[in-house]
Amino acid sequence: MINQSSLDNPVEKFLRTNKARPCPICGHTSWCSFNSKIAICMRIPSDRPVDFTTGAQGFIHFLNGQVKYSAPLITSQSTIPTASAERLDLVYRRLLKKLRLSDSHWERLQKRGFAPRDILRCGFRTLSAKKRDRIVNSLKAEVGDLTGIPGFAKNKDGDWLLCGKPGILIPYMNVKGQVVGLQIELDERMEDEKYHWLSSSAKGGWGPGTPINVVWPLKRLAQTVYITEGGYKPYIVANRLNALTLGIPGVGNWRGLIPALREIKPKTVIVALDVDANTSADGRPNRFVERYEQELVASLISEGYRVLRATWANAKGPDDAIVAKEKISLHMLNQKCRDCGNDLTYLGLRHDPQFVCKTCAQKN
Ligand SMILES: [Zn+2]
Ligand SMILES: [Zn+2]
Repeated sequence: MINQSSLDNPVEKFLRTNKARPCPICGHTSWCSFNSKIAICMRIPSDRPVDFTTGAQGFIHFLNGQVKYSAPLITSQSTIPTASAERLDLVYRRLLKKLRLSDSHWERLQKRGFAPRDILRCGFRTLSAKKRDRIVNSLKAEVGDLTGIPGFAKNKDGDWLLCGKPGILIPYMNVKGQVVGLQIELDERMEDEKYHWLSSSAKGGWGPGTPINVVWPLKRLAQTVYITEGGYKPYIVANRLNALTLGIPGVGNWRGLIPALREIKPKTVIVALDVDANTSADGRPNRFVERYEQELVASLISEGYRVLRATWANAKGPDDAIVAKEKISLHMLNQKCRDCGNDLTYLGLRHDPQFVCKTCAQKN
């Protein structure tokens, strides 16, 4: 319910959740945001969904004032928009060139299933805590000012800083192959998180939003597009299957795929999300993931693509299945009802794809 006090200050800034202020709705320490009146939770649905321009979807929950809220520091930097894709690509590529890949990170990537030539080609680099001043100064000498670049922020003395916890930098590319975001596979997990974006939004700088990762193979064998989740998986699928692969930074962020696919114009789209993603750790179905996958598939079918679901027996993700040389099965998801001929609605996986006819179900 909206009460008078929630209308008194309609522009109260939303704070991103963090360790010190978890989401009042789902309790997680990332992704969601809130102010004293409203939470936008990215995990727990409500009857008030909000679509972000980044393609993510959140849900509005009214808080009735039980939440402690302190206004954030608003710096002048944060009102300047994020740099263009061309500029991000230039700065991020120059940054990656200045970094190397440590031996332990090289080993970590090989364990994950990357061939040595692919590790080099994909552009993974080590973000260490050391020598950051030197890196920033030499970067500035090449590209000039770092305004609008997520991951860079000015300190009190006006000096540029490179933000981000140490780990492996994973380039995220748009359809044109421009590096528009860098994700970090953290050396040390933060709470339950293994990945962070290279972002400076917490220091008054810029965040990358939730870009998708478009990975073109060296040699593309078919007009098929694979859809996976996360930063590494599209690289493994693209390299091993010679297929154009799109990685979404979480199933809830599938909407960013649609404009990319409209540019790519594939005939067939293969959904290769983790098979066990529909099941929570305790073995119960994860309704949110299941619903996001249904929405994604319905949207792909309505865009006119032939849509297939990839499944495999023992591995967690498509990358693990490919590396372990497991058999990958493909299931057609554009199915017609035998009784009325209308399109069936995909309900998700319970071992095999499940469908319902909404027309016939309504008749009964
Ligand atoms: Zn939440
Ligand atoms: Zn029917």
